[in-house]
Amino acid sequence: QQRVFSGVQPTGNLHLGNYLGAIQRFVALQDRYDCIYCVVDLHAITVWQDPVELKKQIREVTAAFIASGIDPARHIVFNQSQVSGHAELAWVFNCVARLGWLNRMTQFKEKAGKDRENASVGLYAYPSLMAADILLYRATHVPVGEDQKQHLELTRDIAQKFNSDFGPTITRLGLGLGETGEAFFPLTEPLIGGPAARVMSLRDGSKKMSKSDPSDLSRINLTDEADQVASKIRKAKTDPEPLPTEAEGLKGRPEADNLVGIYAALSDMPKEQVLADFGGGQFSTFKSALVDLAVAKLGPIGGEMKRLVAEPEHIDAILRDGAARARVLADETLNQVKDIVGFVR
Ligand code: ATP
Ligand code: MG
Repeated sequence: QQRVFSGVQPTGNLHLGNYLGAIQRFVALQDRYDCIYCVVDLHAITVWQDPVELKKQIREVTAAFIASGIDPARHIVFNQSQVSGHAELAWVFNCVARLGWLNRMTQFKEKAGKDRENASVGLYAYPSLMAADILLYRATHVPVGEDQKQHLELTRDIAQKFNSDFGPTITRLGLGLGETGEAFFPLTEPLIGGPAARVMSLRDGSKKMSKSDPSDLSRINLTDEADQVASKIRKAKTDPEPLPTEAEGLKGRPEADNLVGIYAALSDMPKEQVLADFGGGQFSTFKSALVDLAVAKLGPIGGEMKRLVAEPEHIDAILRDGAARARVLADETLNQVKDIVGFVR
C-alpha cells in the first residue's frame, strides 16, 4: 500500500515556497495515494511561539490546505499534537538515532545560529520527531521541498537501524514487511523536484524563501493582496542582463533562475518553455507577466483562506475528525513498536 505523509509548520505567514514546494504537490498526489497531511504544531514550538498566535496559525495552515484543494473527507488532515503517538514514537527514535547523525543536520545549525547553547533541545531533536511523523503511518512517499532532503535521509537511517536492531524480533513476531519479513518500517522515498523545489528569497538569491525571514519583501504570502504581490515582484532583485533564451544561461544567475522557476511551477511548464516565451526580453516585461500569473493563481486561494479562518469552529471540527482517523492508524503502529521493543502493555 502506497501512503503519502507530509507536514507544514504553523510558524507564520505561508508563502509561495511552501505552496509550490509542498502544498500544490500535496494536492496533485491525492488521486494516486492515500494521503495524510499534518499541521506540525509540535515542530513549531521548537522555537518560541506566542500561544495566541500559534492557535491562529494552526487554523491558517489548515485553511491553506483546504483552500488549495486538499479534500479532508477523502484524505486525513489534522494537527500533530492531537495524536500523542508522534511524541511517543519520537522518544523511541531518540534512542535509535545517534548523536553523530543529528550533529550533521544543517537546519539545526542554521536555526540555532551562533547562540547554539541557547537553542532548545527540541530544535536539536526535530529530525527524530519528523521521522516519527512519517514512520508512525509507515508512509512510503513524502513530498517536501529541497530543504528537507537531509531530514528525509535521516528518516531512512532511523528506519534502517530500527529494522536491523530489532530484525530477529520483527521476524519472530511476524510483523515484517515484504518477502524477508525482517523490516518493520519502509525506507520512505522523498518526492522532491520540479522547478520550484527550492524557491529563493526575492531579496537574496542565495537564501531560501522562509516564513522566519524578518523581511516581508523577501516572500510572497498566500494571503497577500494583489497590489502587494505586484509590488514585491517588481522590487524583486534581478541582474542587469536580459533573460537568457536557454536554461543553461540561468547558471550563475540565482535571482533570474528563481523567478523563471516560479513562473514555470505556477504555469506547470518547464523552464525551457518559459525561456522560449520570454528569453531575450527585459525583466520588466517578464515581471508583469509573472505578477498576472501569481495573482490569478494565488488570489482565489488567499481569498478562500480568509473566508475559512473566519469560521474557526468549522476548521477545528475538520482537525478533530482527522485526528480521530489518524489515531487509529497511529495506535496500530505504536502497539506493534511496543511489542517489538519489549514493552509490556
Ligand atoms: P520555517 O522558517 O518556520 O522553517 P518554512 O518556510 O521553512 O518555515 P516549513 O513549515 O518548515 O516552512 O516547511 C513546510 C514545507 O514547505 C516543507 O515541505 C518545506 O520543504 C517546504 N518549503 C519551505 N520553504 C521552501 C522553499 N523556499 N521552497 C520550496 N519549498 C519550501
Ligand atoms: Mg522550514
